[in-house]
Amino acid sequence: MAGNRTFTMIKPEAVENGNTGAILAKIQEAGFKLIALKKTRLSSERAGEFYEVHKERPFYGELVDYMSSGPIIAAILEKDNAVLDFRTLIGSTDPAEAAEGTIRKAFAESKAKNAVHGSDSDDNAQIEGDFFFTADERF
Ligand code: ATP
Ligand code: MG
Repeated sequence: MAGNRTFTMIKPEAVENGNTGAILAKIQEAGFKLIALKKTRLSSERAGEFYEVHKERPFYGELVDYMSSGPIIAAILEKDNAVLDFRTLIGSTDPAEAAEGTIRKAFAESKAKNAVHGSDSDDNAQIEGDFFFTADERF
């Protein structure tokens, strides 16, 4: 069965640029329900842990510095087929390759500063949501 929840972050540059409200509006207009939502800041240790899967990649250090550079918005989202539909809504990692109408096409600055995160599997959606939210923060 397709999972019905995914996890997202609005990344530091998008928060800094005042795009939080516009991005949340696009997410809700696309039919995703907000199950959990918070503004917080990752320490470099926590950012390193979140992106541990990319530890061996050449951009890991840059990614950890960037993701801990300022506050982010974390959210758990619910919709049928949430993981895949949210990846479609956000578009390709590199905004130069992102389709018209996607969040990254509209708001990403670069492949590194690409406005939003979206989980890539049901298992990671669960793990990533649990990384940020306790049971009593979900509604
Ligand atoms: P995310 O996991 O944030 O939703 P993604 O799944 O589209 O993004 P990943 O391959 O998982 O892309 O990369 C994680 C993040 O690392 C990217 O969103 C981007 O911020 C950064 N990143 C990926 N590739 C590069 C690169 N070549 N140079 C710099 N940063 C990169
Ligand atoms: Mg990814």
